[in-house]
Amino acid sequence: MLKVVAPVEACSTCGARGWTICPTCQGATYVIMSGGRPLRPAASFEPDAAPCPTCRTYGAVICPECNGSGKLYQGHEYGSGRNRPLRPYAG
Ligand SMILES: [Zn+2]
Ligand SMILES: [Zn+2]
Repeated sequence: MLKVVAPVEACSTCGARGWTICPTCQGATYVIMSGGRPLRPAASFEPDAAPCPTCRTYGAVICPECNGSGKLYQGHEYGSGRNRPLRPYAG
């Protein structure tokens, strides 16, 4: 039987999937680069399209809030980049 170590809730950033659509290419997997920066999403057949540097043509990235687990500890501060229990807990 699994032991619950800390209260968790579903991550609302990724809908508990653990991943989100790539913010750079919006899931298009290719982008138009301008001055070394991604300018806009692009289709792979566009003349100047380059593979998305963020997701490397995967189209999705690991959710930055929950680090791919799909779950967050209760009381998690969205945008903090930390997904940790508020208090230390014993096994
Ligand atoms: Zn991308
Ligand atoms: Zn998430």
